[in-house]
Amino acid sequence: MRTAWAVRISAGVLCLTLGWIAYTQNPAPGKLKVNKVTDDLYEIEGDGGNVAAYITNEGVILIDDKFDQDHQGIVDAVKSVTNEPIKYIINTHYHADHSGGNTKFLPTAEIISTAMARQNILEHKQSNAPPGVSPARITFTTEAAVNLGGKEVKAYYFGRGHTNGDAAIYFPALRVLHTGDLMAGTSPLIDYNGGGSLVEWTKTLDKALQLDFDTVIPGHGAITNKAGLLTYRNNVEKMRNRVSALVREGKSQDEVANFMTKEYGWMPGSLQQQWSVPGMMRELR
Ligand SMILES: [Zn+2]
Repeated sequence: MRTAWAVRISAGVLCLTLGWIAYTQNPAPGKLKVNKVTDDLYEIEGDGGNVAAYITNEGVILIDDKFDQDHQGIVDAVKSVTNEPIKYIINTHYHADHSGGNTKFLPTAEIISTAMARQNILEHKQSNAPPGVSPARITFTTEAAVNLGGKEVKAYYFGRGHTNGDAAIYFPALRVLHTGDLMAGTSPLIDYNGGGSLVEWTKTLDKALQLDFDTVIPGHGAITNKAGLLTYRNNVEKMRNRVSALVREGKSQDEVANFMTKEYGWMPGSLQQQWSVPGMMRELR
C-alpha cells in the first residue's frame, strides 16, 4: 500500500514537474491523446489540463483549452472525431494550462468562465503565466448552462478551493463531472494568490458531490469515478488536519515545507511549495 501510494505521488510530482519545465522552457506543442468517455464525449489529455469535448449536431462544447501552444493540437484532436466546429468553451479556472488557448479560440468561439476567473486573468494573478492570456467574454457567478443541439452542459461555482473561481462542469445526460483542478494529481495545489483555500476546498467538493454523476474527469490525471472523487476529498481533509496540527504546535514554515516534501512529495521549488505552503501557514494558524 505504502509503495503504491509513493509511486503514485512520485508520478504526480513528475507530471507537475515535467509540465512546469515544458511550460517555462519549451513552449512547443505537447503530444495530445484523445480518449472516448461516451459516444459523444471525449477527453483530450497531455500537455496542460484535461480537455473535454462534447459533440452535438450544432457544434462542439469544449471544457478548457490547455496552453496557447496547444491550440492546433486541440483543433486536430476534435477534427479526428467530428467535423462540427468548436462553438463554446467553458474555462474551469484562470490558470494558463486550462485557459491559455483562449486567445486563439476567441475569434471563432464564445468563451465562458466564472467572473473571478476573468478577474484573475485581468489582474495577472498567476505570476508565471505568459503575458497576453485572454479572459472569457461571458461570465457567471453561481451557475450557467450551455444548450446546443439538444444537449446541455452546466457550470457551477461552489466556492473556493484551488482558486476563488473554480467551475465544476456537469453533463447531466451523461452523468459526468469535469472538476477542473478541484481534483488534480494526488494532493491539492492551493493557489492562495488566486484566492484558493484549503479550509474551503472540502466544502466546495461536498457541494459538487451532491450532483448525480458516475464518471469524473479531473483537471489532471486519469479519468475516475464518484468514489475516486470522494477519496480525494477525504485525503484533502486528512492533509489539512495534519498540517493544521503542525502549525498549531508552532512548527516553522521550513518544518512544514519539509513535512510536505516527505509525506506528499512536494519538492523544493515546486509550485505547491511556492504557492501553497506560505498561505497554509496563514490560513491554518
Ligand atoms: Zn490550476
